[in-house]
Amino acid sequence: MADGVVENLVIVGSGPAGYTAAIYAARANLRPIVITGFQDGGIPGGQLMTTTHVENFPGFPDGILGPNLMDRLKAQAVRWGTRLVEADADSIDLSQRPFRIQADGQTLQAQAVILATGASANRLGLPSEERFWNAGISACAICDGATPQFRNEELAVVGGGDSACEEAVYLTKYGSRVHLIVRSEQLRASKAMADRVLANPNITVHWNRQIRDCSGGDWLEAIDLVECNSHSDSDSNGGGASERIPVRGLFYAIGHTPNTRLVRGQLEVDSHGYLLTQPGRPETSQEGVYAAGDVADAEWRQGITAAGSGCQAALAAERWLTHHNLAVTMSQDPVDPAEVGEMQRTAVSDEANFDANALWQKGGYALRKLYHDSTKPLLVVYTSPSCGPCHVLKPQLKRVLEELGGRAQGVEIDIEADQEIAQQAGVSGTPTVQLFFQKELKQQFRGVKQRSEFKAAIEQLLGAAVG
Ligand SMILES: Cc1cc2nc3c(=O)[nH]c(=O)nc-3n(C[C@H](O)[C@H](O)[C@H](O)COP(=O)(O)OP(=O)(O)OC[C@H]3O[C@@H](n4cnc5c(N)ncnc54)[C@H](O)[C@@H]3O)c2cc1C
Repeated sequence: MADGVVENLVIVGSGPAGYTAAIYAARANLRPIVITGFQDGGIPGGQLMTTTHVENFPGFPDGILGPNLMDRLKAQAVRWGTRLVEADADSIDLSQRPFRIQADGQTLQAQAVILATGASANRLGLPSEERFWNAGISACAICDGATPQFRNEELAVVGGGDSACEEAVYLTKYGSRVHLIVRSEQLRASKAMADRVLANPNITVHWNRQIRDCSGGDWLEAIDLVECNSHSDSDSNGGGASERIPVRGLFYAIGHTPNTRLVRGQLEVDSHGYLLTQPGRPETSQEGVYAAGDVADAEWRQGITAAGSGCQAALAAERWLTHHNLAVTMSQDPVDPAEVGEMQRTAVSDEANFDANALWQKGGYALRKLYHDSTKPLLVVYTSPSCGPCHVLKPQLKRVLEELGGRAQGVEIDIEADQEIAQQAGVSGTPTVQLFFQKELKQQFRGVKQRSEFKAAIEQLLGAAVG
């Protein structure tokens, strides 16, 4: 990734489409770069990072957790020589060759580009949405459902498709009742999924309703529903009487918008903004630029179809590069790279295995010991088992601690296993990071943030302590 070097292939996006394209391109010795994304249009690993069990991806007879599946795809891509830029692509210029992509403060030049930027969850745009965002409103039930504020409370999900149904069923694990707000008189979800919702005694479906607004104090307390006319294209939420439902959580599952901002005005898109390709093929309207996955697929939108189109895009890019004599290949060294093996998980610390100097530990025992005894800044990250963004954040935090060479330490708290700790800490969703120093909470971070933010905060504490 040196200045002035022209890469064979840059892949933008790290969902199933992006990583599959990378696996194929890397095995073709193209040494691809994947710009994984960070916050723009999703998270590294893509949409499957926000789900629990994936039961329909071939090769996993017992199913696999979405984040674990994406960890494996990433490891496979990296094993074969894919290089990662863990940042958002800020802009892409397809008007000159080689193409130019800005990311992480650098300009990458590429002979070919694969766009695999997927799609982002839509928001309702309620008047009070900003106020209650992360204070009751969430776009990811799977990430946030386990937080203490939602336990045994009434919750609502808005939407009528597969995601909404999956989330409603999932949330019955935590809430006392789940209200599913559907703006028509039927569910768009698959029959099997719809049947699960309708058969669940803990889910109440509110047909032909939409949300006018929400209310509460520091945390969401209620939503106001109005009847909408399912027979007209534009729903009415006007003057009709509204019904107030007390809920502590509102989860959005109202569809997605393709992430095509980067190439707007440069590539052809359909009326909904999806990239247009030749039918059944990955070629876009610009030679040397390929599309893969949900960004060009308004219809199938599955992990396996995204992976399949990532494969097509990589093969097409390879053929095009070879045909035009543009590929500079580099053989793998060694020819068979070392196996990845099973992914290691951190064990929960107890009296027997607690290590006062370890950079990273897990559980309430380690937290109590380090909080009281450690003289170093302490990063406490609150996670939940199926939270994809937590998978993204943890390696970033570990890297920060490594870079600081032991001058700070980290503890992970699983809020499902350590509910009391999460409650005392006032955790309202995962991931949440609290930075402690000398037994004082110095800063709190919600969601996935850049490594540099954590590092700067810790360095500031260390600097102030010295000064
Ligand atoms: C809750 C939920 C459950 C699902 N369950 C299943 C299931 O069980 N089985 C199944 O097959 N499918 C499932 N799906 C659908 C599946 O997740 C998607 O079809 C699939 O992830 C699409 O893959 P993709 O690679 O095209 O895009 P995505 O997975 O959306 O990934 C897009 C990537 O692009 C990146 N990106 C966006 N903008 C930029 C930028 N500016 N710069 C760099 N990178 C960027 C994002 O960070 C992300 O890494 C589910 C989806 C959801 C939301």
